[in-house]
Amino acid sequence: MPDPYSGRCACGRITYAFTAAPDFIANCYCQDCQRSSGSVLASYFRVDVDDFTLLSGTPRSYGYTADSGNTLVRSFCPDCGSRLVNEQLAGFPGKMFVMLGSLDDPELIAPPMMEIFTAHRTSWTKPLDVPQHWARPDADPAVVAARIAAGELPGGCG
Ligand SMILES: [Zn+2]
Ligand SMILES: [Zn+2]
Repeated sequence: MPDPYSGRCACGRITYAFTAAPDFIANCYCQDCQRSSGSVLASYFRVDVDDFTLLSGTPRSYGYTADSGNTLVRSFCPDCGSRLVNEQLAGFPGKMFVMLGSLDDPELIAPPMMEIFTAHRTSWTKPLDVPQHWARPDADPAVVAARIAAGELPGGCG
């Protein structure tokens, strides 16, 4: 039986599949998601590394340090540039985050359960009716508020 979830990059050279329904789905407004997607937010979900199968192609990876101080790599198709996954996450061992729009059928995934790094949300983007977090969900709101007041908006997720 084929895996119930599958996806690919825009050119189709990279394809993947996984079996288990994601337990975390979010809209992220962090600066890294904005710059790397070229849009004002990115929707992604979490899967187990052990459950994720790369079926074809070889992604290229770009490493960065998140606002949390944790390292990770963002992997994308070297031919068409589609962003596919965040992986090798120091803060989430054994997990990876897949870009929701790369799924063959995004409707198979539940809607986002929270929105994060909303400190960077554009004024014309309306919040969903789900929990809202200025930075990472586990960040101290008072610390984040002080950083925003000091002009230090939280940077990248991960
Ligand atoms: Zn591609
Ligand atoms: Zn992000």
